[in-house]
Amino acid sequence: MKLAENTSTNSSTSSELRLSANFYLNEFTVSQIAVRHGYRNEPNEKQIENMRLLCVNVLQPLREIINVPIFINSGFRCFDVNVAVGGRFNSQHLEGKAADFVVHSINLIDVFNIVLQRYSFDQLIYEFGKWIHVSWNGKSNRKDMMISKKVYGKTVYEKLNGELRFQI
Ligand SMILES: [Zn+2]
Repeated sequence: MKLAENTSTNSSTSSELRLSANFYLNEFTVSQIAVRHGYRNEPNEKQIENMRLLCVNVLQPLREIINVPIFINSGFRCFDVNVAVGGRFNSQHLEGKAADFVVHSINLIDVFNIVLQRYSFDQLIYEFGKWIHVSWNGKSNRKDMMISKKVYGKTVYEKLNGELRFQI
């Protein structure tokens, strides 16, 4: 991946824009669904700023603690992409405030526990045992912790007690 020279490039829609030391905008906007349907999954400046805040406050500190790559499965979603993936109508992915990610070399439960113990966040969801959804909403952070699973084909969210360390 090409390195950006600095973070203050004035081309805010550049896919090479760096959001934090280890995260680039294109990791949050690339979408196979968008490519397949011909949607332009392009965030505006406010949405890019939301992604930068998610990186600076959660993803980058986490990356430095675990010291292995974090792979963003889904970051920003424009309206059409969100509909195509079956996202909720009020998904924080629409605002650039949420990211779904995986880490290949560390147990995801351990990563989930590191996030819940060390960082503020709006929502932290262990999704179907497959990836972690985390969002950042600044002063409005709720620190909601949930696991999601399918029950008879429907998605169910189960809230976790913040006092408890999450185990399966
Ligand atoms: Zn998500």
